[in-house]
Amino acid sequence: MNAISQPFQITPTGLKWDNHFHRLGPDFYTALAPQALPEPYWVGRSVAVAQILNLPADELETDALLHALAGNQPISGTQPLASVYSGHQFGHWAGQLGDGRACLLGEANGLEVQLKGSGSTPYSRMGDGRAVLRSSIREFLCSEAMHGLGIPTTRALCVVGSDEEVARESLETAAVVTRVAPSFIRFGHFEHFAARQQLPQLKILADYVISRYYPDCQTASTLSANPYANLLQQVTERTAVMLAHWQAVGFCHGVMNTDNMSILGLTIDYGPFQFLDAFDPDHICNHTDRGGRYAFARQPDIAHWNLYALAQALMPLIEDQALALQALDTYKPLFAGHWLQLMRAKLGLTAGRDGDDTGADQALVNDLLALLAQDRVDYTLFWRRLSQAVASQQFAPVRDLFLERAGWDTWLLRYSARLDGLDTQQAADLMRSTNPKYVLRNYLGELAIEAAKGKDFSVVAHLLTLLERPFDEHPAFDSYAGLPPDWASQIEISCSS
Ligand code: AMP
Ligand code: MG
Repeated sequence: MNAISQPFQITPTGLKWDNHFHRLGPDFYTALAPQALPEPYWVGRSVAVAQILNLPADELETDALLHALAGNQPISGTQPLASVYSGHQFGHWAGQLGDGRACLLGEANGLEVQLKGSGSTPYSRMGDGRAVLRSSIREFLCSEAMHGLGIPTTRALCVVGSDEEVARESLETAAVVTRVAPSFIRFGHFEHFAARQQLPQLKILADYVISRYYPDCQTASTLSANPYANLLQQVTERTAVMLAHWQAVGFCHGVMNTDNMSILGLTIDYGPFQFLDAFDPDHICNHTDRGGRYAFARQPDIAHWNLYALAQALMPLIEDQALALQALDTYKPLFAGHWLQLMRAKLGLTAGRDGDDTGADQALVNDLLALLAQDRVDYTLFWRRLSQAVASQQFAPVRDLFLERAGWDTWLLRYSARLDGLDTQQAADLMRSTNPKYVLRNYLGELAIEAAKGKDFSVVAHLLTLLERPFDEHPAFDSYAGLPPDWASQIEISCSS
C-alpha cells in the first residue's frame, strides 16, 4: 500500500469517524493507506448498509466516494490500518497471517468500515493484496443475503471494480468490497498474541473486546466472576447460534479456519461458500478442501474445535481450566437447542406440544433429512414447497421432488399427525417466513458475475433486491427460485479469490 499522497481528502456527509481499534496501538496493526485502483466503477451498492452507516444514499452515487472506496482518495477522519492476526488453517497452526488484502478505514456510526482487496500489506505473504471481481460480487451479495435471512454476518456497502488485471488461475480483474461490521476481530487475533506469549497485548485485546462488545462479562450476576471465562462462554453461545443458522438454511462456509471465525459470532470472509442445491450432508463446497474437513455436516464440530483454539489462546487470562472447559461444554447443547428450534420453525412448529416433544421432533427432523439426503432433494425448493403445501394442503408438488415416494409418504403421515390440532395457516405463515424462496445459489452468483464481466451490473442489482427480502414472493423473478440448471453442478469454487 502507498503512503497517503493525495493532499485532498473527501468528507462524505453523515460519516462521523472514530477509530477505537486504532487506539489499541501499533502492536495490533500497521498503519497504511489503501493502494490506488485505476479507473474504478460501481459494481453493486447497498442502500440499506449506507443507512446503517448514516451515509445519505445519494453519496453512494458520487465519484468522490467511488474513488475513496477504490483507495484513490483518502477520507478525512479515517486512520487506515491492516491488523495482524494468526490462526489455524485446515487444522494446522499457520503462524502469522493478518489483513493481507484488507484495510480498516475506521469506525463510522459505531461500525468498522473495511476495504477488502485494497492492495498489499506487510501481511500479504505471497499474495498481491487484491481481490477479483468474481469473489467480490459473491461476498457482497452473500453478506446481504445472510442478513436478509436473519443470520449474523458482516455486511457489505458496495463493490467497486476496475479493469486492472489480476493473475489467478487465469487473468481476472480487480475489485474492492467495502465491508461493514461492529468489529472484524477474529479468533486468530487472540491466537496471535497467545502464541507469541505477548500477555499484556492479549489482555489489552480481551479487555477491549469485553468492554466494547461484551460488557456483560464484567457485570452480569448470572456469570462467573472471571470475565475472560465469561467471554469464552458468550463467544461459544454466539458461535453455536451462527452454526445452527448455517445448518438450518443449508449454508456451507468452505474455509472455517480460526482466522475466519469472528469474535462476535458473525459469518465472515465469504470465499468458496455455497448454499446447498441437492441436500448432501457430505457436500464439500471448497474445491481446495480435498479431505472434506469443512464438509457441510462437519461444520458444527469444526466450530467447536475452533472454540477450543480460542480457549487455549485465552487460557493465560482465564487461568482456570475447569471454567474454560465448562464454557466449551455448553457448545453442543446450545447448538442442538438452537438448531432444533430453527428446524421446528421450518416445519411450522413452535415448541413441544404435549409438554416435551423434543425427542420426537428431533427424530422427525432427522428422518426427514435422511430422506432428503437419500434422494438428493433440492434443499431450498423442498422447504419452500412444503410451506406452500401446508398452506394449501396439497402435498403432491413436494412428493414430486422424491424418487423414493414410499419413504416420503410414511414421513408425511407422521408430520400430519404432529400438525394435527395446530392452526395450519399459522404454521404456513411461520414456514414462509422461515424457509426462503431465494438463496444465493452458486449458479445465480455466476449469472451476476458473467454479466458484470461484460459491464452489465443489473443482475447484481436484481439479486440484491431479491436476497434482501428472500422470504417475499417477487413473482417477476420466479425463474431464480427453481431448480438449478445442469451446468450448476460443474461450478468449481476454490480458495483462490
Ligand atoms: P482467506 O483464506 O481468504 O481468509 O485468507 C487467508 C489469509 O491470506 C489472510 O491473511 C488473507 O489476508 C491472506 N490473503 C488471501 N488472499 C490474499 C491476496 N490475494 N493477497 C494477500 N493476502 C491474501
Ligand atoms: Mg480470511
